[in-house]
Amino acid sequence: MVIGIDIDNTITHTTEMIMHYARIFGARKGLNTVSDPRFYYLEDALGWDQAVADEFLFQYLGHIYREMRPKEKAVEVIRELKKDHHIILITSRNQQYPQVEEATSVWLKQHGVEYDRLILNATSNMHYFSKLAVCLENQVDLMIEDHHDLVSEISAHMPVLMFDYPYNSHLKADNIIRVRHWEHIRLWVRSWQQA
Ligand SMILES: [Mg+2]
Repeated sequence: MVIGIDIDNTITHTTEMIMHYARIFGARKGLNTVSDPRFYYLEDALGWDQAVADEFLFQYLGHIYREMRPKEKAVEVIRELKKDHHIILITSRNQQYPQVEEATSVWLKQHGVEYDRLILNATSNMHYFSKLAVCLENQVDLMIEDHHDLVSEISAHMPVLMFDYPYNSHLKADNIIRVRHWEHIRLWVRSWQQA
């Protein structure tokens, strides 16, 4: 089986690290630093202008991607899945941001994440790229993801294990399996294989 896995807020605690640096950047610039967790995007969660959010990301993404923590059991469960499945990490992280591709591969290596292939957003659109297209091209059978729009799109074609967050709480469909821990993923894949 081919399993597609998102990185941010799926393998990693990304929002936590973004908010850490957003508080530093925001305090210096006199911006709001109290986020609304119902929103996925930084500019919406903090009420910043898009240009300010872009400036922040451009400056800090390298640090953020290097310093974030993996979610509990993520590394261990992915390693176990890789024994029986082909693992493709599919991320909207854009190759055009400075240091992003390097920071991503270095982080994965440092934390011992095992995978067969890593696919980043190679388009010029910093905010969107079609993971569904990548999934279909690579014959992905199952996707693990947290982003509401991507989950909605991909789940029309295959099951999606969706990490539970306030910004995706409105989503519900037969093909969407809400999970809170990597241990749930381990158990779900095991029973799916046996079915
Ligand atoms: Mg994500």
